[in-house]
Amino acid sequence: METFCSKLPKIELHAHLNGSLSRETLKKFGCADNDILEYNQAKQTTLDQVFDIFKIAHQATSTKQNLYESTVKVIEEFASDNVIYLELRTTPRKEADMTEDEYVETVIKALLDSESSDIMVKLILSIDRRHTYDQQVETLKTIIKYKKLYPDVVRGIDLSGDPTKGAFFRDIFEKARRNELFVAMHCAEIKNDAEVMEMFDFKPDRLGHATFIHPDFQGSAELWELYTKLQIPVEFCLTSNVVCLTSKSYQEHHVREWMKANMPFCLSTDDKGVFDTTLSNEFRIVQQTFSLNKEELWKISKNTLSYSFATDRDKNVLNEKLDKWKLANIKILKHPYYICL
Ligand SMILES: [Zn+2]
Repeated sequence: METFCSKLPKIELHAHLNGSLSRETLKKFGCADNDILEYNQAKQTTLDQVFDIFKIAHQATSTKQNLYESTVKVIEEFASDNVIYLELRTTPRKEADMTEDEYVETVIKALLDSESSDIMVKLILSIDRRHTYDQQVETLKTIIKYKKLYPDVVRGIDLSGDPTKGAFFRDIFEKARRNELFVAMHCAEIKNDAEVMEMFDFKPDRLGHATFIHPDFQGSAELWELYTKLQIPVEFCLTSNVVCLTSKSYQEHHVREWMKANMPFCLSTDDKGVFDTTLSNEFRIVQQTFSLNKEELWKISKNTLSYSFATDRDKNVLNEKLDKWKLANIKILKHPYYICL
């Protein structure tokens, strides 16, 4: 099953560029060995510590050349893990020798240069919830500018950053939506029922984590009932949650409630460098923990594609790829009783 998870064509919808940098990439761009050790051994830590670790990765993407090469490398690593469609996300930021516009342009150039027949790559630009309202408005202007310039590359907007700080400003995301951006939102990473209600009312296209929603996971019956009506696809990042201690274990991860209730979800890495994981590894963990079969794993990939922010044309190309792979790799028993498979 490990080989199957590795070979299965996969769709990654929740990957932060800076958190996805591997140890090799950090080393190449001059991060100190001690820092890398701290970055890559983020086993059992807290959300606070993880946000500190991001500062280390930012050193490796602080010049145009390093940012370009780091982005190309991250895409290569996903491609070699048989990820056929990747939505990378990053927050536009300025550095000593780089404006916010140059940061976004450099990432877009790396994405365009890296696309191949093996992997399709799109961009989600993030708003940091720790920023003030005025700062968030400024970032939105940049995001809309690049959505207009590269409509096929910039597909969505995301709300991320330390969930214990800052706020969700609805009008910013309403404006994003009016400008044809899909909306993903980190939601319920900590218990905050009032904010979850506001987000549900807005109805983003996808939610990240959704940890504290189900009543068995410190949510409430009211939140869960509302969720089951909305059925917004959730990007689950199991290793990230277990390492950050927001989930007790893989067995006790809230994904099980989504499986039980047949609610839409996908599997993601969040920050493959920080959490030392791969998308194949996340599939393997879910397979082992919940005893899934090959057909069910393939179906996760297939469903994930339908929750992506890809254009219909791109979805058709990728759907065909997934169907062909299934025919060649998953045996359908010819016995009449199994015809419905
Ligand atoms: Zn995330």
